[in-house]
Amino acid sequence: MSEYDVVVIGGGAAGLSGAVALVRSRRTVLVVDAGQPRNAPADGVHNYLGRENAPPAELLADGRAELARYGGEVVSGVATAARREDDGTFRVALDGGRSVAARRLLVATGLVDELPELPGLAERWGRDVLHCPYCHGWEVRDQAIGILATGPNAMHQALLFRQLSADVVFFRHTGPELPEEQAEQLAALGVRLVDGEVSGLEVTDDRLTGVRLTTGEVVPRSALVVAPRFTALAAVLESLGVPAVDQDMGGHVVGSAVPADPSGATSAPGVWVAGNVADLSAQVVVSAAAGMRAGAMINADLVAEDARRAVEAHRSVAA
Ligand SMILES: Cc1cc2nc3c(=O)[nH]c(=O)nc-3n(C[C@H](O)[C@H](O)[C@H](O)COP(=O)(O)OP(=O)(O)OC[C@H]3O[C@@H](n4cnc5c(N)ncnc54)[C@H](O)[C@@H]3O)c2cc1C
Repeated sequence: MSEYDVVVIGGGAAGLSGAVALVRSRRTVLVVDAGQPRNAPADGVHNYLGRENAPPAELLADGRAELARYGGEVVSGVATAARREDDGTFRVALDGGRSVAARRLLVATGLVDELPELPGLAERWGRDVLHCPYCHGWEVRDQAIGILATGPNAMHQALLFRQLSADVVFFRHTGPELPEEQAEQLAALGVRLVDGEVSGLEVTDDRLTGVRLTTGEVVPRSALVVAPRFTALAAVLESLGVPAVDQDMGGHVVGSAVPADPSGATSAPGVWVAGNVADLSAQVVVSAAAGMRAGAMINADLVAEDARRAVEAHRSVAA
C-alpha cells in the first residue's frame, strides 16, 4: 500500500482547495470523495467572487482539473474510518475494503441538512425551499416568500428575507410563541403572522405555489424558507477520537461541528478539518479559504518534520 503525504477526505470546495495548496507544495495527495456536495440541488453558486452563478458541479470539476494538473489524485468512494498507527502515520479505510496510508489527514466531509418533516418539502430543497439569503436570496427577491418557523431562529430568517422582498408571511407552525416585541417588529415591517400548523405544500408544474395549513387554507407563496439542522458528517473524525459537538445560536442548538483551532488543526495530532464539517455557517468561498489555509498549515507541519528527520539522518552519518 502506497503512502501519501496527505489524504484529503471529502472533495468539495474545502477539500479540493486544501489539496491544490498541498500539491503545489509538491506534496503527494489523494482526495477520497463520495461526490455528494451539499449544494448539489442548487442551479448555481452565488457569492463566490469571480465565479458568480457557476453550476456547483462545474466549479468542482474545474477544481479537480486544477488538482490533476499538479499531479493530485482523486478516488471516488467513502472513507469509513481512520486510525493512527504507532509510527504516527494514518490508515484510512474506504468502502469496498480498500485502505490508504498518509502522514497527515485533512477531513472536509461537510454537513448534512436535516430538513423539517413536511410532505413534499425535501423534493423542493435548494429550488424553492431555501434556507440561506446569501445562497439564493437575490433569486427570490420581490417574490411571495414564506418563513416556516420550527425554532426561535425563524425570526432572524424573517428579518433577513424581508430585506429581499416586501411580501413575507411568517408561518408560526411548530415554532415558539413570539415575544411581543418580535410580533411588533413583524407588524411594523408588514410581515403577516400566520398562526397554526402547516400541513403541506401546493405545487403546480413543478413550482411551489402555496403553503397549506391544517385548517385547509392555502396561502399563495413561491418560496419557503426553512431552518434545517446542520449535522456535521463526522464519522471518520469520531473514529479518530474527535467527535462533533453541538453548535448553539441564540441559545438554541442549530447543529453540530467538529472543534478546531483557526488553522483547522483538531485535538488529534496530524488531523486537520476545513469547511462545513468544522464551521456550519461557511459558504463555498469561506470553505475554500479554510481548505487552503489548512493545506498550508499541514505543509508547514510536514516541512518541520522533514527538517527534523534530515537532521537526525545527518547526525547519524556524521557520528
Ligand atoms: C441548497 C444549497 C445551496 C447553497 N448555495 C450556496 C451558494 O450559492 N453559495 C455559497 O457560497 N454556498 C452555498 N451553499 C453552502 C455550500 O453548500 C457549502 O458552503 C459548501 O458546500 C461547503 O463546502 P465543503 O467542502 O465543506 O462541503 P461539501 O461541498 O458538502 O463537500 C463535502 C464532500 O465530501 C464528501 N464526503 C462526505 N463524507 C465523506 C466520506 N466519509 N468519505 C469521502 N467523501 C465524503 C461529500 O460527498 C462531498 O463531496 C448552499 C447550500 C445548500 C444546501
